[in-house]
Amino acid sequence: MAFLTIAKSGTLALNERSKQLETTGRPIHRLGFGESPFLPPPYVQSALQNAAIRKDYTPVAGLPELRERIADFHQEIDGYPVSMEQVLVAPGTKLLLSNIMHAFQDAEVYLPAPSWVSYAPQAAMEGHRLIRVPTFWETQWRVDPELLDATITCHGRSGADKLIVLNYPNNPHGLTYSRDELLALADVLRKHEVWAIADEIYALLHHRGLHASLASIYPERTLVTTGMSKWCGAGGWRLGALLLPQDTPADLYDAMVGLGSETYSCASVPIQVAALSAYELSAELHDFLNRQRRVLAVIGHMIHAEVTRLGIRAHRPEGGFYMLIDFSPFSELLARREIHGDADLCERLLEEAGVALLPGSCFGLTATDLTARLAYVDFDGPAALNDAKEDDAVILRHAGKMLQGIADLGQWLNRLSEDKDSR
Ligand code: PMP
Ligand code: GLU
Repeated sequence: MAFLTIAKSGTLALNERSKQLETTGRPIHRLGFGESPFLPPPYVQSALQNAAIRKDYTPVAGLPELRERIADFHQEIDGYPVSMEQVLVAPGTKLLLSNIMHAFQDAEVYLPAPSWVSYAPQAAMEGHRLIRVPTFWETQWRVDPELLDATITCHGRSGADKLIVLNYPNNPHGLTYSRDELLALADVLRKHEVWAIADEIYALLHHRGLHASLASIYPERTLVTTGMSKWCGAGGWRLGALLLPQDTPADLYDAMVGLGSETYSCASVPIQVAALSAYELSAELHDFLNRQRRVLAVIGHMIHAEVTRLGIRAHRPEGGFYMLIDFSPFSELLARREIHGDADLCERLLEEAGVALLPGSCFGLTATDLTARLAYVDFDGPAALNDAKEDDAVILRHAGKMLQGIADLGQWLNRLSEDKDSR
């Protein structure tokens, strides 16, 4: 017998492991898994409760009224025309991403390194040719248009479909693109007729509310993925949405709906009804988003300051709830303790300091670069939202457990230096 070889996704494996370690009574600083700390607003929770009676299957593409509401929502927020025919709803963005990969045949998939853990396995499952586009600390991990152009020119085969996944605000590094930077990237994508998957799932959590959508710049070939997992604090509800271009080829649309019909049938109907309420533009919704942004900005900046104070390198995050931290200044010290790569590093940190981080190699970085992703979500989100309009100091009280985690990380690093000095 022969079965597919596929490991459990690094994010989910770490979440399960951290939870399991906690059940043994060990305090764990959960800075590894990226789950929103916030809850869906009470009126969205009530909408879900009231929808428990719904048990019907919806059309594969989603409830028409929800597709229309999501179209209106993004048209208003992102400032470009979107109609309901362009919207597909599914049980999670992950499934939409994987079905997009499935819909293309024998494509070239260009993935920035680093990028989110699941894109590469999804591309590999479909037998696509994976081409990494390196990005660098010095240039804020942004894809350089000239390098992208050169990479496609060098690796692209004529006639092959080309796909790139651009995710911003980004998981794992928390940085994003300005409209001008997207314009420069769009020129290259247009030149090579590349399909762009713009994974904008963290768009509404841009800390300053300044997200620019690639679909407003490169409308002809941008597939936007988004959903309720991040901005609505509803990861486990599993609701994702895809915004297709206005002139999507009928074959692509039919493939997406056909794949949905043979895999998930439709997103859960009570969740779709709750999403109708979540996607209603109102003063309450803007308040909910503004509070999340403020809390994430204040806490993210403080965590960044504390991490860099230890001598670890990191860029200050601009959106979402992650940052990529770089232990290379400690590489010699780590090597003396037989820590040569990021997986060893994260394993030892979890075992010896109770600090859970996800290795940068899960995101396509080189293990010996000694990077790890830190998710700053281990706090009481609803309580922090209540204090979102208070002074920074009040908000920061909610970050106590994470700050303790960073302090424990610092002590672990200090012990490394002491061990070195005593040799
Ligand atoms: N894209 C990125 C960048 C993510 O971090 C996640 C994490 N959940 C997803 C997609 C998948 O989201 P969903 O929960 O909608 O499947
Ligand atoms: N997006 C989250 C993360 O990167 C986890 C959820 C998932 O991977 O499905 O940690």
